[in-house]
Amino acid sequence: MSEQRPTLESLAQMVSACQGCQLHLARTHAVFGEGNPHAELMFIGEGPGRDEDLQGRPFVGRAGQLLDRMIAAMGMRREDVYIANVVKCRPPNNRTPEPKEAESCISFLKWQIYLVRPKVIVLLGATAAHYLLNEPRGIMRLRGNWLDYQGIPVMPTYHPAFLLRQESAKRDAWHDLQQVMRKMQEIKA
Ligand code: SF4
Repeated sequence: MSEQRPTLESLAQMVSACQGCQLHLARTHAVFGEGNPHAELMFIGEGPGRDEDLQGRPFVGRAGQLLDRMIAAMGMRREDVYIANVVKCRPPNNRTPEPKEAESCISFLKWQIYLVRPKVIVLLGATAAHYLLNEPRGIMRLRGNWLDYQGIPVMPTYHPAFLLRQESAKRDAWHDLQQVMRKMQEIKA
């Protein structure tokens, strides 16, 4: 990373050319992230899947469609929020990123948070909590409880891909998102 303070645009260019870990070898497109550059709410997932790799956009497959519905249920539009992942290139067969891959990539995400400056962050799944917050606990224990990233309230909840497999967890996820909505109202008040 250059010493000059990056912009979202310059970061996206760096990501598209990045060879910082082995995940660049098999990618079709790097997936930087997208959304409102001044979003009050940011969602952070684990990494691109097949559809995201093909399109170069985050959360566009089935899990992404569920995320869109979750955002709509919160009374917002996808373009109101910012969406990013821990790793920007697809891990083969959608496996969890390896530590050295996530550690090579995490500074891009930290810059994205710094530049967007969201008021609230939602972490989708344990991988995001692990690499952003050094949080060793699993998502079952973490979800529904507020954490903190540099003064920004952080709500961990289930990844939409998990919710597609585990319909019964949707009620807990909705409970978590309602907490997020209340927190955003409190911050605005
Ligand atoms: Fe670079 Fe991140 Fe892609 Fe690895 S996953 S090549 S660190 S952009």
